[in-house]
Amino acid sequence: MTTSQKNLAPGEQAQAFLSREVHHHFIDGDSVPALSGQTLTTVNPSTGAVLARIAAGDEADIDRAVLSARKAFQGQWSTWTPYGRQALLTRVAQILDENFEELIQIEAMDMGAPVSRLRNSKPALMKMLSFFASQAANISGETLMNGIPGNVTTMTLKAPVGVVGGIIPWNGPLNGQFWIIGAVLASGCTAVLKPSEDASLSVLRVAEILYEAGVPAGVVNVVTGLGKEAGHALAAHPDVDRIAFTGSTQTGRSIIEASTVNIKKLQLELGGKSADIVCADADLDKAVPGAAMGVFANSGQICFAGTRVLVQRAVVDEFTERLLAFMDTLRVGHSLDAAATLGPVISQPQLDKVLSYIDVGQDEGAELLRGGGRLGGEFENGYFMQPSVFAGVTNEMRIAREEIFGPVLSILPFDDVDEAVAIANDSEFGLGGAVWSQSLSTALRVVRGVHTGTMWVNCYGYIDPLVGFGGTKMSGYGSKGSAAHMENYLYTKSVYIEL
Ligand code: NAD
Repeated sequence: MTTSQKNLAPGEQAQAFLSREVHHHFIDGDSVPALSGQTLTTVNPSTGAVLARIAAGDEADIDRAVLSARKAFQGQWSTWTPYGRQALLTRVAQILDENFEELIQIEAMDMGAPVSRLRNSKPALMKMLSFFASQAANISGETLMNGIPGNVTTMTLKAPVGVVGGIIPWNGPLNGQFWIIGAVLASGCTAVLKPSEDASLSVLRVAEILYEAGVPAGVVNVVTGLGKEAGHALAAHPDVDRIAFTGSTQTGRSIIEASTVNIKKLQLELGGKSADIVCADADLDKAVPGAAMGVFANSGQICFAGTRVLVQRAVVDEFTERLLAFMDTLRVGHSLDAAATLGPVISQPQLDKVLSYIDVGQDEGAELLRGGGRLGGEFENGYFMQPSVFAGVTNEMRIAREEIFGPVLSILPFDDVDEAVAIANDSEFGLGGAVWSQSLSTALRVVRGVHTGTMWVNCYGYIDPLVGFGGTKMSGYGSKGSAAHMENYLYTKSVYIEL
């Protein structure tokens, strides 16, 4: 940013950033065009209009970025002390705090989340940076006993794993990228990030801001481009030590295959079809908005969305009536409309996919109680969809088995808690899930019974880096947050010292 841009209001700063003719890669502390000279367009999902041009990266650009990351990993960055990296993370938090309004405007226009939602996400980002700053100074090995004759001391050291490839989805890149960047800066690794072709701009702007905050050149690089080109090249690159991937299960499988070239370490955060179980004794004042926003938040584009809402038969009618009343309070609107609670979905193909599930659900015999259509009028050029509800859904239906990734909630009635647990477990995914009950013993029975990476009781969607979050089954492995997160960025060296 030039000095004159620093005096602009956040909206003007965002516009100044967006007005660039092409948004190039960010490699080795510099903005660099794709070697091929090719670009892609990215669209504002609220208007359907082209928002920006980004570099169309390919294998050659990934090579260049990996070289920069390797050079930085072996260079001066490797001599930084834990306190130095901790202070850097604190500086990063401060500069993000100062630039947050600009960043959320860029993110809102690029991926469609309403500014109200993005603004509310700031405390979570700041907490994440505090967490990683604390982790920077908490990396330790062990001194171990041994049975070797003589005077041999044995211990383990932790060392940064090396160059990390971060492959990021479009549903929340502004905050999501910090699960990788935070751990990279705390551990002493370096990174090449490949954001989604549908939402790369906040990742590019953050890379510049990090550089301004003092992150050395080459420590965080960004290559934009298509998944099957730039993304695949990163996953298959022989000099990348580890991949942190968040995205669909299908792409996760391709990444596993590509990563075999040098036996990369992997962290895979994949899709979900989480069950949200509302028992007859639940406090419906909390359960109704909780379950509704567990699906509709971010227009349903959240991996752990509780899209299968299992409701005990005795309260299905009351729950449904209250749910529909709650939905009247939701306001779908342009992402820059301060009053909007829900924005568009990301793209025309995503809208088509979500709408196709409305047909699938009706063909399968589910009852569409609300929504199901694209919004017209002032919204006709954007990718807006009515929040939608299906009733009478059974777990065999495709709408209960496949990830829709849009604002579509399915109500599945159940009779007793064991049946609810069995339905919840009858899924290839195991990411999130919740139970609403005023009985602690019922809640704990469900928590223990459901085979999933994260469970919420009488709430939905809290994530704290100190606690962590992750998936099992086809939702992936390698949790985000908690001490386990840092372990993913480190390897253990066993040391034998004969004295
Ligand atoms: P996606 O898998 O299509 O794309 C994710 C990223 O992978 C993008 O950057 C894309 O360009 C890249 N990519 C695509 N094909 C690739 C390939 N062959 N090799 C390497 N990279 C490739 O996912 P999406 O549509 O961007 O995001 C939605 C999906 O992400 C949903 O399934 C959702 O559940 C999942 N998700 C999971 C979590 C989680 O924490 N578990 C969080 C957010 C999103």
